[in-house]
Amino acid sequence: MKNEKRYDLIVVGCGAMGAAALYQASKRGLNVLGIDRYDPPHEMGSSHAETRFTRLAVGEGSQYAPLVARAHEIWRELEAISGEEIFYQNGLYIISPKEFEKEEYNHWENFVERSADIAAGFKVPYEVLTSAEVRQRHPKILIKDDEYAGFEPTGGHVMAERAVAVQLRLAREAGATIIPNQPVTQIESDEDGVTVTTADGVYHAGRAIVSAGAWIHDFVPQSLAPNFKVTRQVVFWFQVENPEEYGPDHLPGILWVGKKLEEYFACFMVPPGSRPGLKVLTEQYIDVSTPHEIAREVTEEEISFFFEHFGAGKIEGMQPNCLKASVCLYTHTPDDDFVIDWHPEFNEKVLVVSACSSHGFKHSAAIGEAMVQKVIDGKSEIPLNQFAWDRLAG
Ligand SMILES: Cc1cc2nc3c(=O)[nH]c(=O)nc-3n(C[C@H](O)[C@H](O)[C@H](O)COP(=O)(O)OP(=O)(O)OC[C@H]3O[C@@H](n4cnc5c(N)ncnc54)[C@H](O)[C@@H]3O)c2cc1C
Repeated sequence: MKNEKRYDLIVVGCGAMGAAALYQASKRGLNVLGIDRYDPPHEMGSSHAETRFTRLAVGEGSQYAPLVARAHEIWRELEAISGEEIFYQNGLYIISPKEFEKEEYNHWENFVERSADIAAGFKVPYEVLTSAEVRQRHPKILIKDDEYAGFEPTGGHVMAERAVAVQLRLAREAGATIIPNQPVTQIESDEDGVTVTTADGVYHAGRAIVSAGAWIHDFVPQSLAPNFKVTRQVVFWFQVENPEEYGPDHLPGILWVGKKLEEYFACFMVPPGSRPGLKVLTEQYIDVSTPHEIAREVTEEEISFFFEHFGAGKIEGMQPNCLKASVCLYTHTPDDDFVIDWHPEFNEKVLVVSACSSHGFKHSAAIGEAMVQKVIDGKSEIPLNQFAWDRLAG
């Protein structure tokens, strides 16, 4: 026997974007349902591995600056309501070579300067530092003489799973229904609204948001699907002697750009009370897959290759002993920008969000709010029109 229920809004996928939408919708008193194929926060998508960088001086483009600024306010609001630490504003470095390999496409090229431009435009504190200045402030950062850095003191880290969990908990407490472990198999629409089907139920609502992350191919028209490339990323935690020396009071976030795209390296602080390893990663865009098929295991060879080629010589005290490794998914558009737009087949009843491209988490709290405004009020305070489909092929 199928369930027959009606909601104001159904959110399909309750990760970073979905949890934010559920929190915002329930805060407004809407009758809202969230459905997820797993039980978020979980380790199968794009929102796990403890921490995410955030920066107000978003070198990715000025269209993102209002979103991240609003998200910083919401992280603080969530902390005040929940009593949990979600946002460490402990600063963020962008370390860059002075010269790039010219023949290579590298979306990090001139990122220190592009971030400085955004900082100037939005009155964000931001300094450009020499390698000697970085070493003096943070001797653990083994920056080379031919590198320099941008530093934003208002940047830092957001606790990823904690932010998702808190928003889902607050949504439930405000009356939201959240159904875990139930993949949505179909979405349809008619004049009355939308119908969302899972193996165990059929649910009706006025509107829906699809925030399925790397599973977006299961929901968008086939002609648009090739615009979303899912890549396998690996996050490592390497041993350090005294983990508290790498905590928020000592180590800002470090986004380390290489001369070539594939030389990217990132190092995150050790959050208080977390696993005692230093979280580090690189990025790759070659191993394209789907979340249904992606290799979830990390091999010993991958670990030693990463340490040798990316980790060694970057952070004082980082040892080759890997305490944990985890696979995480990027979902990239061709221009690395987000898609937040109406589903082309559902007549302004279903809003689709694909806000990853490796930089979505920092904006997620504000995207959730803006999406709920768009589907319920018809328009969001922070404009989302720059994230429309029409720039993509298909
Ligand atoms: C390694 C890594 C590092 C990153 N670093 C940063 C960073 O430093 N700063 C930053 O801002 N961003 C960063 N990002 C990007 C950021 O984490 C993502 O943009 C963000 O987490 C994406 O959230 P999401 O809600 O779209 O996806 P997810 O959190 O994966 O949520 C999608 C949800 O949809 C559910 N779902 C899928 N299919 C169905 C279905 N059929 N039915 C029901 N539910 C379904 C899934 O189970 C999942 O819970 C990083 C990403 C990765 C992978």
